[in-house]
Amino acid sequence: MNKKDLAEIKKLLIEKKAELLNKTNNAQRDIDSDNMNVGDEIDTAGQNSDKEMFFELAAGDKITLNAVNDALAKIEKDAYGSCECCGEDIPAKRLKAIPWTRYCIKCQEEAENPKR
Ligand SMILES: [Zn+2]
Repeated sequence: MNKKDLAEIKKLLIEKKAELLNKTNNAQRDIDSDNMNVGDEIDTAGQNSDKEMFFELAAGDKITLNAVNDALAKIEKDAYGSCECCGEDIPAKRLKAIPWTRYCIKCQEEAENPKR
């Protein structure tokens, strides 16, 4: 990986991190304003399923945020760009599409579709 690609990827990671942190702050504000309107108990079931979806989304964002932080740490340690599973270099094209990815395409596909 050349320095220009790495600088570009680092910028993408920092932007993604800011975006995710922003989202977390907004979500927290939503929860606070929700708690202020507890008086209305009509249709609680519907509200609950909405909330479950929200928490699933938030958990996914947390995983992405962790991966972004790990990727930034690896850039600092000069260890960025290789697959955590097989150790092969991940192609720059894939890293630019998903800079926080931990695995090469082959390992990712095997993780998503395990052989039976
Ligand atoms: Zn791999």
